Amino acid sequence: MELFHSTRSTDVTVTAKQAIRKGIADDGGLFVSDGLGSVTVDVDTLVGKTYQEIALTVLSALLPGFSEAELKECVAGAYGQQWKDETITPLKELGDDYILELFHGPTSAFKDVALQMLPRLMAHTTSGTDAASPTQRVLILTATSGDTGKAALEGFAGVDSTGIVVFYPAGQVSEVQRLQMVTQQGANVSVVAVRGNFDDAQSSVKNIFGDTLLGFDIDAQSHTRLSSANSINVGRLVPQVVYYFAAYAQLLASQVINNGDEVDFVVPTGNFGDILAGYYAMRLGLPVGKLVVASDKNNVLYDFLTTGIYDRNREFFTTISPSMDILISSNLERMLYYFSDGDTELISRLMSDLASTGRYEVPTEIMSKIRQVFDCGWADEDQVREAIADCWDQNHYVIDPHTACAYHVLNTTEGTPMAPRIILSTASPYKFPRAVLEALGQSAPASDFTCMDALHEFSDMEIPSNLRTLEGMAPRFTGEIDVADMAEYVKDMATQFAQ
Ligand SMILES: *Cc1c(COP(=O)(O)O)cnc(C)c1O
Repeated sequence: MELFHSTRSTDVTVTAKQAIRKGIADDGGLFVSDGLGSVTVDVDTLVGKTYQEIALTVLSALLPGFSEAELKECVAGAYGQQWKDETITPLKELGDDYILELFHGPTSAFKDVALQMLPRLMAHTTSGTDAASPTQRVLILTATSGDTGKAALEGFAGVDSTGIVVFYPAGQVSEVQRLQMVTQQGANVSVVAVRGNFDDAQSSVKNIFGDTLLGFDIDAQSHTRLSSANSINVGRLVPQVVYYFAAYAQLLASQVINNGDEVDFVVPTGNFGDILAGYYAMRLGLPVGKLVVASDKNNVLYDFLTTGIYDRNREFFTTISPSMDILISSNLERMLYYFSDGDTELISRLMSDLASTGRYEVPTEIMSKIRQVFDCGWADEDQVREAIADCWDQNHYVIDPHTACAYHVLNTTEGTPMAPRIILSTASPYKFPRAVLEALGQSAPASDFTCMDALHEFSDMEIPSNLRTLEGMAPRFTGEIDVADMAEYVKDMATQFAQ
């Protein structure tokens, strides 16, 4: 059976189930499998299949060690009635291009695709030969730039033997995003604002995972292990591979392409999870021309891909696309692992450079291989607003500010000749009703809910009920802490949830 190990060393190997349960390797690296691509998926066989059937095929190729029955049960539960569209991720025409709507899940962001699945995968990690002890509890730690938090809460609320703590950057998420999180129900959930930005919160969560003494303490006191629901968890990453195949199958079915024709994907990118899933799809045999990274004003990835130097020592901008306001893109580490042919020594060195100096430089041979697959572009906030307005004028279709970054990049980069191009639409515009309404040249009323109604009036697009009903719901979580107090907070929650 194919095993996983850290991007920074091959010394310790774990099964897929153990990798999901642990979330991150003990040395701080991310779990990868050298078997990626040894099993491929023939796209021709996917035409006419349901999303659930495609998911089963793709996940079986990526998660050895889960039985077919287990994956079937996970897929059925994850992609059921909680989705507003029965095709789960519908592909729509957008002028001469295409848009893949990933936001029809219970929290109206693409994070639902993975976070409806992760808790179900996690539940199966206590069974089978490599089982953790069945009495062992898991505490999920999640740093969020806005959308992961609610999607993870929705996925893990009420799950047996599991608790979840969400850290979000105080004042740096949209009002709707904040309300979604702080009104979450469930006895096993906790949400707290952190005085800092997403990078501070994510780095601190990674440090907490790396703190063996703290982990030992928590395990001894409350029989609880820590795990992650961020895209550093391989169980969060792999469900995202599925919709790349589902999109391709939809183009095949409508005879826009023939099997083997290349397709480009333009992806609004922050932590590099979504677009890395596209690379995994390529490794499984999906005919992809270019994967195009679309950044917002925090364009650290654009600079990296154009210069080969990753440098987080720069001004951090709080923008109208908060879920992409990230300067340390964790999943880049997995990409570098694969493009360096598994050079764990190099990855360790780069990551220790990043930790100590905030920058690293990737050898040019590796960069040229990366550039054969990845293209890039970015949009400043005026360009984001223009993109929202232009997309409406051209197509009578409303996009959210994250998707608008991709729309701008699509219209300013060349793409693979002749290849259809697909924008991944990562959130419902109703999560950011104020920014969208203003971009459309409408005056924005004081409350975000009145903005939703005004946007509905303007566009006639349905408001997701999970968002509209937030108005008037009482916040349960009003706390705010310093980054330095996050570890203590985790310890307290582990104790509380174990009682
Ligand atoms: C999380 C998120 C992104 C960025 O995805 P990554 O996997 O972090 O690159 C883009 N758009 C929205 C709406 C998101 O929630």
